[in-house]
Amino acid sequence: MQMEEIYQSLGVSPRVYEYGEEVLAGLKERFEAIDRVAEYNQAKVIGAMQKNRVSAQCFAATTGYGYDDVGRDNLERVYADVFHTEAALVRPQITCGTHALTVALSANLLPGDELLSPVGRPYDTLEEVIGIRPSTCSLKEYGVSYRQVDLLPDNGFDWDGIRAAINERTKVVTIQRSKGYQTRPTFSVGQIGELIAFVKSIKPDLVCMVDNCYGEFVETIEPSDVGADMTVGSLIKNPGGGLAPIGGYIVGTKRCVERCAYRLSAPGLGQEVGANLGIMPAFYQGFFMAPTVVAGALKGAIFAANIYEKLGFRVVPNSTESRHDIIQAVELGSPERMLAFCEGIQAAAPVDSYVRPEPWPMPGYDSDVIMAAGAFVQGSSIELSADGPIREPYAVYFQGGLTWYHAKLGILMSLQKLYEAGLVELG
Ligand SMILES: *Cc1c(COP(=O)(O)O)cnc(C)c1O
Repeated sequence: MQMEEIYQSLGVSPRVYEYGEEVLAGLKERFEAIDRVAEYNQAKVIGAMQKNRVSAQCFAATTGYGYDDVGRDNLERVYADVFHTEAALVRPQITCGTHALTVALSANLLPGDELLSPVGRPYDTLEEVIGIRPSTCSLKEYGVSYRQVDLLPDNGFDWDGIRAAINERTKVVTIQRSKGYQTRPTFSVGQIGELIAFVKSIKPDLVCMVDNCYGEFVETIEPSDVGADMTVGSLIKNPGGGLAPIGGYIVGTKRCVERCAYRLSAPGLGQEVGANLGIMPAFYQGFFMAPTVVAGALKGAIFAANIYEKLGFRVVPNSTESRHDIIQAVELGSPERMLAFCEGIQAAAPVDSYVRPEPWPMPGYDSDVIMAAGAFVQGSSIELSADGPIREPYAVYFQGGLTWYHAKLGILMSLQKLYEAGLVELG
């Protein structure tokens, strides 16, 4: 088998290939542990599909109002069983993760209520949803106030601060699992469980919502297993398995999810409407594939962490830390290195491999942003992608890969571009 040659034909030099193999040799046990989680989660998904008697009937397209949509309703039962919740809302009409979170929040907060984030600043797009940055139709405009308790300097929860922030108006607690574009660690499901137990011990009727983006199937349990009333995410990330072309999900208590359905469609209509337009095969098959796809993405993240840490760069999480999402940050320390890294990721893509990513002034950011992605589904970040703002510490956020082999190629190509440009030395 001429492995080195096929890589060389794609542009990876023997020296870079060899460097990668050296690093990989030390990762066998970690990869085995990831495979075991995937195996467990695969069984969980198959079990839910069997229990709910998924059949060809579930894959039929519906149009118009979509009344009695068997496939849609059954998929929601499958999600509810995998996440161990009473109810689920899984819809192509939920356009993205931000939309899913917006539906969950606005359905469960009424004028005069307060939203609390006990984990610091939320994801960028939620700042406008909440009204932290003034925005049309924000929760703030509808009379919902917001309070935030930052993490302690050691990234731990500020238990006293959280206790003090909970008041008679506090209604929903929002907990973001993944670090997003921050440098704090991602929370484990166990940590999220502790936090939920704590806030509910202070005020039992609080509704706890977890932003689960990038976290699904990374562990064998989900936030819904540790007390979350709503667990929310995007189908063009982990649970869509790379096959879902759009969509979002909310799983949780019947009471909360019902409210979300009324907010998404209309009071009185709720979950009864919403045609599937032929998307069900992709949703079912993507969910079926998701545990394996997530495993591949995790292996890619760990490979990248080990390569770049060995080269002397700071990586978050570091090479040995346990993982709770699929994101890998690499602090490259210069704009040139960021560009070269992203060029390599782009050059490894099955789609748009011939284009060269350029930094551009993206709305909502105070510096130019560079993005590399060559995806089958536009903007899908379960597919191999990298991005980051061109500013100190010049960090790229790397994620995804529908297969481990593609993730591996992407990382080797990123290293190749850095090596060719003389921006790293391979020991
Ligand atoms: C991706 C993401 C979202 C929502 O993103 P969309 O681009 O709207 O799908 C929200 N929170 C976190 C932590 C995310 O990673």
